[in-house]
Amino acid sequence: MKYDYLIIGAGLYGAVFARQAYDAGKKVLVIDKRPHIGGNVYTEDVDGIHVHKYGAHIFHTDNQRVWEYVNRFAEFTRYIHEPVANYKGEVYSLPFNMHTFKEMWGVESPEEASAKIEKQRREAGIVDPKNLEEQAISLVGRDIFEKLIKGYTEKQWGRECKDLPAFIIKRLPVRFTFDNNYFDSKYQGIPKGGYTKFFENLLDGIEVRLNTDYFSDKEGFDGLAEKIVYTGQIDEFYGYRFGALKYRSLRFERDILEEKDHQGRAVVNYTDKDTPYIRVIEHKWFTNGLDDEGNELKNTVISREYPFEWKPGDEPFYPVNDEENNALCEKYKALADKEDKFIFGGRLGEYKYYDMDAVIAAALSKCEETYK
Ligand code: UDP
Repeated sequence: MKYDYLIIGAGLYGAVFARQAYDAGKKVLVIDKRPHIGGNVYTEDVDGIHVHKYGAHIFHTDNQRVWEYVNRFAEFTRYIHEPVANYKGEVYSLPFNMHTFKEMWGVESPEEASAKIEKQRREAGIVDPKNLEEQAISLVGRDIFEKLIKGYTEKQWGRECKDLPAFIIKRLPVRFTFDNNYFDSKYQGIPKGGYTKFFENLLDGIEVRLNTDYFSDKEGFDGLAEKIVYTGQIDEFYGYRFGALKYRSLRFERDILEEKDHQGRAVVNYTDKDTPYIRVIEHKWFTNGLDDEGNELKNTVISREYPFEWKPGDEPFYPVNDEENNALCEKYKALADKEDKFIFGGRLGEYKYYDMDAVIAAALSKCEETYK
């Protein structure tokens, strides 16, 4: 065999695994069917702006080890994510915090805000929240649910809030302080020079073949290495034999505008149900409106993000981790657990709504487990 490890997918899981294996003296080959590295974290340079081609990625973590790890491959800027929600022209602060409560109800103190939420939770009769709708109302009350959550979530997931798992809304902080930082994490930032540069450093010295589809010659590729790290869809790996898992996909509509400032921040969410996109990204604000040399960018690039239901051939972005799909995934995982040669990792390989830092932590610990 020519390689110790063949890694399918040059996204975060694959690239971190490759780095670790390579540094441990293993012979490694990475392949990816796309023409670029970085998976969905990839950034593309347009007019000096690092465009997040597959949607906004803001690195944030509480994990010291992961933070030190990523800082080996890039310097991180001190970008703080402060998106807002636009509901039919009314603008609200995110995540849900005292600014939002003040804008929604005119309340000034945490006591007033808590009382308002408690009253709306009681009126809805929720004791033990069983789905996203009940969880949202019980966390922030019905008014915020109706204006800032319901439309956005139903557009993003293509399902009603009462049919979605509660954990999805628990990703967002709820605070009774005036603080618009979208994340609670200890560390937060964007790699200087863009994520693609970060990936180039992560994969430095490692053999990578792009435009290379594993399934075009699975047997041939399987014969190349002792072990295979597979970061594609787990159901596709097994030929969808128990049925296809559900995913949400995204389409991006990009405009290059001869404007200095289009929306004054990196992300604006459109939370009503009628606007067909869920958010607009203005990429220059991830770098404070500056290029890599620190010069002011003249133009701007925006992307509108349209969610839709994935079907084979589309790009999968989000696993739909409801009970039905998790149960189906367990069947595939039972097969995967019995494999000796194959390791499954990442959002698609594990069918898990992972954040970037958690993917890195998982890849690092899998490497350690594998070399033991
Ligand atoms: N969400 C919402 N309104 C918003 C932003 C988020 O209702 O303005 C909900 C929505 O259900 C979403 C979830 O919170 O799926 C998690 O949001 P997050 O920003 O973490 O999603 P991601 O950036 O991963 O798409």
